[in-house]
Amino acid sequence: MDVDLDALASNYRLLARLAAPSRCGATVKADAYGLGLEPVVRCLWATGCRSFFVANVEEALQLRRVLAQAQVFVFNGVRGEEAPALVGHALVPVLNSVEQVEAWRRQASIPGRDAPLPCALHLDTGMNRLGLGAEDLDRLLARSDWREGLDLQLLMTHLATAHRHDDHFTRRQLALFQHMRRALPTLNTSIGNSAGTLLGAATRGHLVRPGLALYGINPFREAPAHPALREVVRVYGRIVQHRVVGLQGSVGYGADYSAAPGTRLATVGVGYADGYRRVLGNSAEAAVGGVRVPVVGRVSMDLLTLDVSRVPAQTLARANDTVTLMGGEVPVETLASQASTIPYELLTGLGPRLPRRYLAGEGRKAPWDPAGG
Ligand SMILES: *Cc1c(COP(=O)(O)O)cnc(C)c1O
Repeated sequence: MDVDLDALASNYRLLARLAAPSRCGATVKADAYGLGLEPVVRCLWATGCRSFFVANVEEALQLRRVLAQAQVFVFNGVRGEEAPALVGHALVPVLNSVEQVEAWRRQASIPGRDAPLPCALHLDTGMNRLGLGAEDLDRLLARSDWREGLDLQLLMTHLATAHRHDDHFTRRQLALFQHMRRALPTLNTSIGNSAGTLLGAATRGHLVRPGLALYGINPFREAPAHPALREVVRVYGRIVQHRVVGLQGSVGYGADYSAAPGTRLATVGVGYADGYRRVLGNSAEAAVGGVRVPVVGRVSMDLLTLDVSRVPAQTLARANDTVTLMGGEVPVETLASQASTIPYELLTGLGPRLPRRYLAGEGRKAPWDPAGG
């Protein structure tokens, strides 16, 4: 699997430019959506990103080991036993409930603390997942000392339907957010994920936190993203064996695909253990030397089979036995919908057995260059 760090940097610059005057952070939870946390955050930092969002403390500590100076927000907030690690590594929990605010305040009140503890406050406006609802917020604000010891850096909310583009639910969430934040009018805000960042100023806030679009994927289901967004991820497979079908033409487990005699098959060394979803058997396509070919038969743990009959023999040889399984002629968005899922799940499901190669600068090279000889 290739991760194009030049494209990642370019996407960050694009989103930062579109978001301005809002600042642009980056969501890098789940190992930077399966791409590999360390190379991704090093690249983003070098491109000017200073604020990062992860899901939990473990991810935050991993990030902190790579970037000592970054501002690191932790979406899941703080549980009691995690507080010392958060404080010790200058991590910023996103406080999601009155209880989390209290836990963080208890940390702040420990004798010897010389500065207020940084945090963000998450207001729930329609996800019902994390964050304080309107009643929770009232309960919190009713205590005059609720902010004591806290350095409240950000007021956050998360949109449930921004990927649908123009959407009444989004407008309702924004209105509720504006209403709730009246009590805290001077705080900076963070609203936009990838879709929110691309949608416009109303769905951004002071700091946006895109993930998916950074990794080159269109967050919208039914609209184009931005023409300048570049592809970052390509998943390749190696052909382990070529074969020509004889009289017995069934392919794979279940023997439920039958190929005509003379069909040329390529067996590729990637399977569902690598995150190539089993449901894509008999339905998806791959690309060999720029030619799209069907996946035939069931996907097994370590292997899948392509019908490469329509690929000219010399192209097959030139492709150096490498096939494209995701990216390029096989958009991740298309694969995801064929697998009845979303690109997020495909990316984060890519297994550790797939070698990650990071392309950047001068030495960049794809395993097979369609334009080359
Ligand atoms: C994952 C996540 C994001 C990033 O979303 P994308 O759609 O990948 O841009 C932003 N905010 C929160 C709270 C998230 O959980």
